[in-house]
Amino acid sequence: MTTLPAASVDPGSAGPASHFQPSYRVSRERLLEKLHALSARHPVLVDSRAIGPRGPHGETLALDFCIVGARRPKRALVLSSGTHGVEGYTGSALQHWVLDVLLPGLRLADDCALVLQHANNPYGFAWHRRVDEDNVDLNRNFLDDFDPSRCPPDYEALYECLNPVDLDPANEARRWARIADYIARHGQRQFQQVAVEGQYKFPQGIQFGGQRRGASARHLLALVGEHLRDAESVVWLDIHTGLGESGSCELITGAAPDTPAFARAQQAWGGQVHSSYSGDSVSTPVNGLLDLGLAQALPPGCRFAFAYAEYGTWPPERVLRAMRADNWLHHHGDRGDATGRAIESEMLEAFRPAAPDWAGAVVAHGASLVESSVEAANITDRRCGKRASERSRR
Ligand SMILES: [Zn+2]
Repeated sequence: MTTLPAASVDPGSAGPASHFQPSYRVSRERLLEKLHALSARHPVLVDSRAIGPRGPHGETLALDFCIVGARRPKRALVLSSGTHGVEGYTGSALQHWVLDVLLPGLRLADDCALVLQHANNPYGFAWHRRVDEDNVDLNRNFLDDFDPSRCPPDYEALYECLNPVDLDPANEARRWARIADYIARHGQRQFQQVAVEGQYKFPQGIQFGGQRRGASARHLLALVGEHLRDAESVVWLDIHTGLGESGSCELITGAAPDTPAFARAQQAWGGQVHSSYSGDSVSTPVNGLLDLGLAQALPPGCRFAFAYAEYGTWPPERVLRAMRADNWLHHHGDRGDATGRAIESEMLEAFRPAAPDWAGAVVAHGASLVESSVEAANITDRRCGKRASERSRR
């Protein structure tokens, strides 16, 4: 697990947990308000790309690409949230910390920008699902070609255990016994690989990567292609939750250890990044990752350092139980009845634990991580000669 120093960071006067927002809608509204207020100090440009579906209160669902600083930055730090929908609470909390605490005191260099990409998957964030409006895991959707027969054979063999058609207790006990038997024979890591690497065959199954690029992926790549087209270097952190020990953070890349992308990530974050291919990460290799799509959308020659910051919540079985129940609810249940409400509430707990200690630890660590990323991206005005943290303290 990665432990970065948190001592130098100002959590904000109301404490770190206060940066968590109560919903996608409120997070977005406050984000836009704060950006408007900040525009007196920094140049601010917000490019919002709405998707078709609405949120639970009828609100617009959009990806908001918020550029603070240079319009066409040469160097940029991007902090993105909500690739996995409901996980967006944590990424959004760090974005609100940046707006509340860091940016008011930050001096950006003239040709640099700090970008907050709010809600890569706004549907999932608003509706408390990991997936998008088409049941697609956005972080399996960044492919050039989709093969609708692509699926791990063992996923197919375990299909009804991973994607139950009912929640009958006797049937569920039998399914979980089959999963336990698989784990006993092949190991937890092999089970994780099979369950989460991404499949393109079953639109109603968990970890469905889609059969075409979805609206969120298309919007995000278009935003990057347009606003970062002059970028010579980009450092990008995408914030996730649900894997690893509670409250701990692991920086992960989908790049293999012998690649330039891995080396750039290691250089940016002081050798603390784990490759999902190396066996020492909480993640296993997965298909169709965001960073592969982004690398293609950035201009040729741009130096691109990317990592997923993954914050642990609950043990893997609880997280998987939440995900498969949510998938059952979407296809077979009723969100408005007592069972539906309990499943939604457990989904929230699995990816955004209610305990204030958890929220506080995550924001304190995340704030330190953002500060080291600001340094790695080299976006501040060096004439000042102080670290961002010193300037941000009030
Ligand atoms: Zn995630």
